[in-house]
Amino acid sequence: MKTILITGATGFIGSNLCSKLIEDENNNIIAVDNNYTGTLENVREIADNGRFKFIEHDIINPLNIDEKIDEIYNLACPASPVAYQGEKAVFTTKTCVLGALNMLELAKKNNAKILQSSTSEVYGEPLVHPQVESYRGNVNPIGIRACYDEGKRCAESLFFDYHRLYGVRIKVIRIFNTYGPKMDPNDGRVVSNFICQALKGEDLTIYGDGSQTRSFCYIDDLIEIIIKVMASGDDFTGPVNTGNPSEFTVKELSELVIQKVGKINGKNLKVIYKELPKDDPTQRRPDITLAKNVFNWEPKIMLNEGLDKTIEYFSKRLALETKILTNV
Ligand code: UDP
Repeated sequence: MKTILITGATGFIGSNLCSKLIEDENNNIIAVDNNYTGTLENVREIADNGRFKFIEHDIINPLNIDEKIDEIYNLACPASPVAYQGEKAVFTTKTCVLGALNMLELAKKNNAKILQSSTSEVYGEPLVHPQVESYRGNVNPIGIRACYDEGKRCAESLFFDYHRLYGVRIKVIRIFNTYGPKMDPNDGRVVSNFICQALKGEDLTIYGDGSQTRSFCYIDDLIEIIIKVMASGDDFTGPVNTGNPSEFTVKELSELVIQKVGKINGKNLKVIYKELPKDDPTQRRPDITLAKNVFNWEPKIMLNEGLDKTIEYFSKRLALETKILTNV
């Protein structure tokens, strides 16, 4: 049996990872979260499994676990700009930095492998396109995104120092924009906003002129590479980019969502333009050559198909919420 600890376990990526890992009967899962952006609802279907245990804990504080831990996936951190900025900014940096320190200490004590969910945000407003792992980025260290960007950069440095100083077995992945079931409808991300707005018949809010680009990876593809990276030999530390290299403008995404949801609800959907948030990156696309070469991995689910699955998820979720509200 293997005991696997996952932080950020009730969030979007964490809960999808828990569901996948629990399928293997040799895995015991210890799920850790403070439920700031996550919700127990995301792990409800596996909560009664005897190999699943949930601990409510904020990783800003040290974590003591009695069981021997074999692997740690450190995913805990608010990841949506609206969730990590503003009044949560200092909390975000603490989660990134103190959280990484506490989890690295736990890994060291247990001689466990530890994987860090880093981010494309370490590249900031990239001057190299597409982004390769060797690119050192262009981050504004005093901007409103810095709490997250610099927090994640500092976490990467801590991982590599624990590796060099104490021989901790580390894996660092840099996750690019990811979407799919179990995203929070109120998270403020572009995919969830557009789909939920369209389903409710509201205008889709484009920030700026919509010419900024992102590359969207479907959750199942991401989960596959996360598990492959954890399973790699001790000599592989990363960092490795994990994402889908197909790049779209935000305007193109809005058109796709309008076309798909319009067909379902017959509404005449349109966009409205709002101010572009400060330091919003102009373009983003991962170079995934490393992941392809080392793990023989590339995303299989393209935006067209992934959006259909995600629209289906949000339709059900919003219908359920409406039902609950009207029953009250
Ligand atoms: N965005 C938008 N409308 C929204 C939400 C986001 O136009 O309702 C834009 C946002 O300004 C950014 C892109 O979509 O340029 C992706 O935003 P998201 O928050 O999903 O992720 P980010 O890549 O910025 O972390």
